[in-house]
Amino acid sequence: MKISLTQLVQSLIRPEIRALAPYHVPDATGMVKLDAMENPYRWPPEIISAWLEQLRSAPLNRYPDPEADTLRARLRESMAVPDQCEIVLGNGSDELIQMIALAVAMPGRTILAPEPSFVMYRMIAAFSGMNYVGVPLRKDFTLDLDAMRAAMVKHQPAVVFLAYPNNPTGNLYDEEAVRTIIEECPGLVIVDEAYHAFTGKSFMDALPRYPNLLVMRTLSKMGLAGLRLGALMGDPAWLTEINKIRLPYNINVLTQLSAEFALAHHDILTAQAEQIIAGRERLSAELRKLPGLTVYPSSANFILFRTPAGRATEIFDGLKRHSVLIKNLDHNGGPLKECLRVTVGTAEENRLFLTALKTVL
Ligand SMILES: *Cc1c(COP(=O)(O)O)cnc(C)c1O
Repeated sequence: MKISLTQLVQSLIRPEIRALAPYHVPDATGMVKLDAMENPYRWPPEIISAWLEQLRSAPLNRYPDPEADTLRARLRESMAVPDQCEIVLGNGSDELIQMIALAVAMPGRTILAPEPSFVMYRMIAAFSGMNYVGVPLRKDFTLDLDAMRAAMVKHQPAVVFLAYPNNPTGNLYDEEAVRTIIEECPGLVIVDEAYHAFTGKSFMDALPRYPNLLVMRTLSKMGLAGLRLGALMGDPAWLTEINKIRLPYNINVLTQLSAEFALAHHDILTAQAEQIIAGRERLSAELRKLPGLTVYPSSANFILFRTPAGRATEIFDGLKRHSVLIKNLDHNGGPLKECLRVTVGTAEENRLFLTALKTVL
């Protein structure tokens, strides 16, 4: 090799990839883990036994069903997907975001989303060589419809992502504003309903009315983050094309079997979501009692709050010393400066978090 390895890497790897910071997951060993919107509850022992019994017959020597037909039928039923819509599955909804981007990516094309929102929209735009436009939310994190409309006219996005409810802010956007965006968008609108289990609201029923709308769900926040299963719903005209990008066998045998099992015991997941919603309301009320904090309304399984000026990182580090891990958003800057995000845990985990927070404050 004539040139050094460093030079070769720099010349071959695209500049926008070299500029990315890797997706960082902190070590949570021994911590009360309230950083990643996971469901804190496991299944009762007898359900775990029944699940393991089901896995006993898993044909690991065979490739999985490439289309996961049984699982898709179960999902269609449990999510009440409109009859005329198609379903494509992803290895988490992250993979679906990537499939959508790969299907439309061309030089000069744009992905647009409100900011702050889910970081993978921006990252996957970079992976796929697309432009990314973030349209600031208002100061209270509500949707700025006028700014969205102006940005759609100016940038003509191929895809608009709307997280409904939004991550990391936790709020649901105004339904009428979302409808206006779908109606006026020159491209696809993806309503990302990752937190659907914690809110009554959905655009699933609106799918037949809007040809440029796709709805995305995931089992991750409901209690199956380890399985990696996301679902994309919409008109077959779109999904037939997007399905061509999907790598064959992207949903493995164990995930297909386990998700089918979980959906047959959907009542457990629903009951856990109800417990989490009740916990969220209690935790929000307790946080509101603490002096100096601004607590934002949440329709998800986490709560965003603003600390007194200049104290976010100190409070985050203090919680860590008390073995409580939440998410520090302060270094994102902009509207998230001074902000921390806590996932709703079990009653005991929430209590440990609140006790530690009171001490640190
Ligand atoms: C967590 C999250 C996802 C990713 O979910 P996976 O299915 O685990 O990949 C997608 N969208 C939003 C808004 C999220 O918060």
